[in-house]
Amino acid sequence: MDFDLNETQRLIRRQAADFAARRVAPGARQRDIEGRYPAEIVKEMGALGMFGGVVPEEYGGAGLDYIAFALLCEEISRADSSVRTVISVQISLVATPILKFGTEEQKRKYLPRLCTGEWIGCFGLTEPDAGSDVQQIKTFAQKTASGWRLNGRKIWISNGGVAQLAIVIAQTERGNPRRMAAFLVETSTPGFSSRDIHGKLGLRASNTAELILDGVEVPGPALLGEVGQGFAVAMAALDNGRYSVSAGCLGIARGSLEASVAYAKERHTFGKPIAAHQLVQEMIARMVVDIDASRLLLYRAGELKNQGKPNTLETCIAKYYCSEAAVRCANDAIQIHGGMGYSNEYSVERYLRDARVATIYEGTSQIQKLIIGGFATGIRAFA
Ligand SMILES: Cc1cc2nc3c(=O)[nH]c(=O)nc-3n(C[C@H](O)[C@H](O)[C@H](O)COP(=O)(O)OP(=O)(O)OC[C@H]3O[C@@H](n4cnc5c(N)ncnc54)[C@H](O)[C@@H]3O)c2cc1C
Repeated sequence: MDFDLNETQRLIRRQAADFAARRVAPGARQRDIEGRYPAEIVKEMGALGMFGGVVPEEYGGAGLDYIAFALLCEEISRADSSVRTVISVQISLVATPILKFGTEEQKRKYLPRLCTGEWIGCFGLTEPDAGSDVQQIKTFAQKTASGWRLNGRKIWISNGGVAQLAIVIAQTERGNPRRMAAFLVETSTPGFSSRDIHGKLGLRASNTAELILDGVEVPGPALLGEVGQGFAVAMAALDNGRYSVSAGCLGIARGSLEASVAYAKERHTFGKPIAAHQLVQEMIARMVVDIDASRLLLYRAGELKNQGKPNTLETCIAKYYCSEAAVRCANDAIQIHGGMGYSNEYSVERYLRDARVATIYEGTSQIQKLIIGGFATGIRAFA
């Protein structure tokens, strides 16, 4: 299904597709094998303004609308989701919360650096004992004469080992999660360290790290928003993060379909291309439907974002559907490729491994369903 994109959106899609084909796709397999962060590609993307995303031009951004931004994420993800992860975190989890909650000084200080890729950002919410149950985080920010002292540990933080800036969500009052706060922590601050996490199923070329905050002293202006707004900052970040993850999933689903159609026309069994077998077409048809549905749900959320309207429900629906659909499509793509699908000669096995995390991070599929169910019933099934 094609959409009536405007000129800018078509241009962004073309540029992103071209960059993805030339610079991202060719080394994706090797980076995955080596678990190598795509530093050189990230640098180039920064120079090309690809981290400008939806950030307004006055702060060094590209001022894209949300549909154009989704197209960028889709195209890059189709080539390599690990590279898409950098865009998602940089723009959706770090830059847009600063845009929404930051002071003018914070925006002027950090957004231009993030938009050029001079600085990489990360978003630290999850902890060893608190993922879905956000309110149980233990990282603590103690008020000091000059600012705050942070102690705690964050885990599974994308970009955590390569970032210059971290948004850290912390408690400020023991036993009172309503007093959570968000902090802009420069990772060069004494007491801040990170440890890379290896052995992931997928997204092997993206950097994922544990953050250790050991008496990290930050000045008063490091507070992002107000004390008591930490949860709101986190949820606003996730509203955007889930959107770019959904767009990334659409890229994986589309890549799965395109690879499957090409292979199914080429591979012959029983005297005809496997594309001519009805059970193979059934898998392809399901992918087509999943991709159309994903795109429609994604663009509905994007349009609401463009209009500045509430979109938490629609973004959760998109994230739930797109992530599950990407897993289904990649899985069927492996099936269509037969034995070859089980090998990294083709991208489809990487697609499945990379898609799998999207049903877990930025709120698991179960959590998305509880949010959707909460909207439907008016009853929240979790705090
Ligand atoms: C590669 C990767 C990158 C990540 N990047 C980041 C990042 O940049 N920043 C960040 O802060 N975090 C990040 N995360 C963490 C991610 O967001 C969490 O893993 C996720 O939110 C789930 O939390 P958990 O792992 O603690 O699982 P848990 O919360 O322990 O959940 C375990 C299982 O229980 C289910 N469950 C939990 N509660 C309920 C309930 N009430 N009802 C029904 N089922 C429930 C879950 O759905 C899940 O199936 C990343 C994770 C990965 C794997």
